[in-house]
Formats: sequence, C-alpha cells, structure tokens
Amino acid sequence: MDVECSDPLVFTKEFTRQEPLPEESVRRAVAIMESGRLHRYNTAAGETAEAALLETEFAAYMGTRYCLACASCGSAIYLALESAGVRPGDAVLCNAYTLAPVPGAIENAGGRTILVEITDDYTIDLDDLDRKAAGSGARFFLLSHMRGHIADMDRIMAACRRHGLVLIEDCAHTMGARWDGKRSGTFGAVACYSTQTYKHMNSGEGGLLVTDDDDVMARAILFSGSYMLYERHVSRPSMAVFDKYKTIIPNFSMRMDNLRAALLRPQLRRLDTQCRRWNERYRLLETALNAIDHVQVPVRDRREAYVGSSIQFTLQGVNRGQVENFLAGCAERGVEIKWFGWSEPNGFTSSFDSWAYIQDMPDLPATRRVLDFMCDFRIPLTFSLEDCRLIARIIQDVIGAIVGTGGEPIQP
Ligand SMILES: *Cc1c(COP(=O)(O)O)cnc(C)c1O
Repeated sequence: MDVECSDPLVFTKEFTRQEPLPEESVRRAVAIMESGRLHRYNTAAGETAEAALLETEFAAYMGTRYCLACASCGSAIYLALESAGVRPGDAVLCNAYTLAPVPGAIENAGGRTILVEITDDYTIDLDDLDRKAAGSGARFFLLSHMRGHIADMDRIMAACRRHGLVLIEDCAHTMGARWDGKRSGTFGAVACYSTQTYKHMNSGEGGLLVTDDDDVMARAILFSGSYMLYERHVSRPSMAVFDKYKTIIPNFSMRMDNLRAALLRPQLRRLDTQCRRWNERYRLLETALNAIDHVQVPVRDRREAYVGSSIQFTLQGVNRGQVENFLAGCAERGVEIKWFGWSEPNGFTSSFDSWAYIQDMPDLPATRRVLDFMCDFRIPLTFSLEDCRLIARIIQDVIGAIVGTGGEPIQP
C-alpha cells in the first residue's frame, strides 16, 4: 500500500511495560497471602521463610557465601556501606554517571561523595579515579555498573589494592553479568542488586546484598532489622559472629517480606534465559544503530559478558539543539529516549549536577560532555526483535531528517 510509504513509521509499545511474572510466582504469592505469614520472621515451627530461601538460592546462583534480602537496592547499598565500615565524614568514591539512589545511599550513611569522571564508553575514568583516590584519602569506593557497563575490573582491582580501597559494587544492572568469566558482584567486599520493576527481576521494590565476609554479613543482617531473630537466616555466619555486634548495631528496618521473595524465586530460575533474550535484542539494536550515520554504540570489551537490558548510544557530529530535536522527533514517533543532558531532573533520569546536596562537587567536564550526547532507552522483553528493528529505523529516519535540515553539524 502506498500510504505506508509516505506515513512516518510509528512505534506504539510502551518502554515501561514489563512481562507478566511467571505463573509460579503468582501461585507462591497467593499461597503466602493465604497463610498470612508475610513478615520474614513470621514462620511456623520448623518452617524456613520464603525470604530465607530466596537468600540461599541467590547466594548459590552468585557463588557467594551469603545473601541478604532487603527492601530496595538503595537500602541494600546503604546497609553495605554501613556494614563495610563507612562512618560520618568518610570519603566515598563513586562514578558520576549513576542513578540518584547511589549518591543517596552515601549521603544516608553520612559519607562524603567524591564523584569520578567517566570516559566515552560510559565507564569510570581510571586516571581520574587514581587522582581522586590519592587526593581524598578515601578508603571506600562504591562502583556503580551503571546501565550494565562494566569497567576493566582487572584495573579496578589493581587501583583498589594500590589505594587501599574497600570496593562495594552496585550491580543494579549487572545481575547475571560477568567480567572475564567472574560474576559481576563478586569482585568487591559487598555487592547490591535491585529487584525493582525495571531491573532483571521484578518484585516491585526489593534489593539483594551479597558478601563472603562473616562480619559484614552479621552487621548487615542486624542493621537490616532482625529483631534478634537472625538465627532464622539460613544464609548467615555462625551465631558467635552476631554476639560481637548484637547490642551495638541499630535496627534500620530495611527487610524484604516473604511476598516479594515468593515473586522472585521462580524469576531467579529463568534469569539466565531472560539475560539471553535481552542480549538478542541488544545485539540486533547495536548492529542496526551502528549502521546509522551520527550514531555510535561504544565497542564493549571482549571480557565483558553484559546483560543488554537497556542500550546507550552517542550522537556524533551534532550540536545540543540537534540532540533536543532528535529526542523530540523520536518521542513524536513513539520512541521514548532518555537523556541525561536536561538541565532539570526529568522522570527517572537525573544527572550529577542536580544532586546539589553533595558538598564540594568537583567539575566534571568529561562526564558532562559524554552525557550531553548520550541517548538511552530500556529494552523491555515485551519488545520483539521486529520491534527493535522498527525502533532502529525510526531513529535512522529522525536523525537523518535532523542532520539533513539542521544546518552544518558541529563537532561535539
Ligand atoms: C535502580 C538502581 C539502583 C537502586 O535501585 P532501587 O531498588 O530502586 O533502590 C541503584 N543503582 C542503579 C544504577 C540503578 O539503576
């Protein structure tokens, strides 16, 4: 039909629409609700709580000794910082490209956030890390694998050794990912995962903390609010470790309940399959987007086994006004692209310059420049491969029209 040739292509699916939960999740959740035992410490004699089972299973998946189920990833990061020993006034290094709950957790722990620049491939700038680690005397480093981009972990670990940094990993976007065969989240002293709706498993809200360290784990369980019932955790160190801390650690009440754990256990069993499905979509988009003039998806390190649950690309040879026109043009055609270049925080995306509570914010010109030209969208599994092709074609049409009519492109 000729109409189709002249009508602009439009995408009609929602970028925020996730798949339904597995039937088994729904059945388990109903059973928990019927039992009335939603609180993780409300167990019948001899029963192991759903939250405790999830912890055991996630630790087994990760190959870590321990796991703690928390109210959110932001609260898990906060518990991780507290349990790793961050005290008010301590400097905590963190990459500047991350999500608001990450500096929020540092702030919550009373830490001083020291933001570190990123490079053109969206990962932390290791030279700036060296400079700021030396200059600040920081003992803690909260590395956020933002949007699933894993920095060179060999160099990261060398930097941690060189500067005596305790590494805490924010793995909200790397659940299921690996660096050089080793799971993301097993490099540092503690790692945190999100089970919020837009991450790799969905319980609405939720977080998982993993560690191999007895003392960190005992402290994290106590901080999370164990009401002295920590014996009921299966994934925990011996009771003697708790004796050291049980009266000196406050209860912050950041537990996960059995209902969410029930939703998550069946999702964990299909996690690797889901990761493969994300990567099929990611690789299709990566190839299609890289074929478009002015669009570049950075090359990823061969050692990085990422999970492509979202994709980022840089617009090249355009100016800021053209970026804004591009975003508006895509939005008109139903392709909702996120941008960290807005001068005001926008929806889920806010960039470092809107975190005005951070004291002595350094200048971050490299990060600003990268974010000003970086576009970002989620790849929900409700999108088919055909949907991904359509999105790429729309992006191609829109950028073509803008660069074609937008005057001489300037170099960023
Ligand atoms: C979502 C997210 C978090 C926090 O997750 P919540 O569960 O919403 O607290 C932390 N870091 C990154 C990079 C995230 O995307």
